[in-house]
Amino acid sequence: MKKLILGLSIVSSIVSNAAGIVNIYTTRHYDADDALYKEFTKETGIKVNVVSDKSAVSISKIKEQGRAPRADVFMTADAGNLSRAKEAGILQSIDSEVLEKNIPSKYQDSDNTWFGLTKRARVFLYSKDRVSKEELESLSYESLVNNPRWEGKVLVRSSSNIYDQSLIASFVALNGSEEAEKWVAKLGRQMARNPEGNDRDQAVAVKDKVGDIAIANSYYYGKLIAETDKASKYYGTADKVNLYFPDQKEGENGVHMNISGAGVVKNAKNKEEAIKLIEFLSMKKQQEQFSATNYEFPVNPEAKMSDLLASWLNEQGLETIKEQDINLNLLGKYNEEALNIMIKNKWDKPL
Ligand code: FE
Repeated sequence: MKKLILGLSIVSSIVSNAAGIVNIYTTRHYDADDALYKEFTKETGIKVNVVSDKSAVSISKIKEQGRAPRADVFMTADAGNLSRAKEAGILQSIDSEVLEKNIPSKYQDSDNTWFGLTKRARVFLYSKDRVSKEELESLSYESLVNNPRWEGKVLVRSSSNIYDQSLIASFVALNGSEEAEKWVAKLGRQMARNPEGNDRDQAVAVKDKVGDIAIANSYYYGKLIAETDKASKYYGTADKVNLYFPDQKEGENGVHMNISGAGVVKNAKNKEEAIKLIEFLSMKKQQEQFSATNYEFPVNPEAKMSDLLASWLNEQGLETIKEQDINLNLLGKYNEEALNIMIKNKWDKPL
């Protein structure tokens, strides 16, 4: 028996050496991610091959490749996109004690087809000059649409982007679709302009006095701070804009927290290597590096957020961030309903 086990383990190590590679299709492409992949290769001998594409493009490519996919790992931003990948049937369930231990269950798929690896909050970016401390104190997702102070002052991006679809889906999950629809209907008259541009463009519009407050993902504020190219339209925006985590007070639901994450592709040639890589990225040390490079929060509770991110909490007098208490599977479940609510209530052309 002992001999047999020994024999098997030799065979399996030969097989994995022969494979020795993992192919990632990802929407992320950062030098720092590449540095982590290099470390992974150094530690395991497994080579990492990265293909960068938009989420929908990667999903359809993998789907077309069918039984012989060229991707082993699919990585993207937003639980809504991860759900779309699952629904498209391109992911497989994986069994990993390491991932179960490192990633809270609310940030993984209920069937283990995807796992969150970094977190991002959907926050407010407000004008440092035109929004007072008192106004901030009463600020929440609810008061943003109910307080006349924000009428004609709110900046958002279009309904075609997944981030606000997921925000509305989270409201459906927490408050029911009727309340979510009321919120969307009321947001229209608070908008400073019809939605246009990306998250960072909303912050630029705050700087340019188009409006006083924008909805954006937290890491974009980090990117604005880091912008050193004087020719960039984003340069200097962070000097005029600050970040606020809504819904941190008692009785409030917490800020909308989303993820970027990864799953193993169905029929992946290098399944073992794929699992190893996702496990590697979920460990404390790698989590700290992986999240910090894009100004995101680690999902592994043992990992620390970067000093820059901690300073944002500090400024608001927070020790920890209160997050919406929902399982992110619900963002996929309610995505279609959220988008229907947005379209029905003229999200893209309220003015
Ligand atoms: Fe983004």
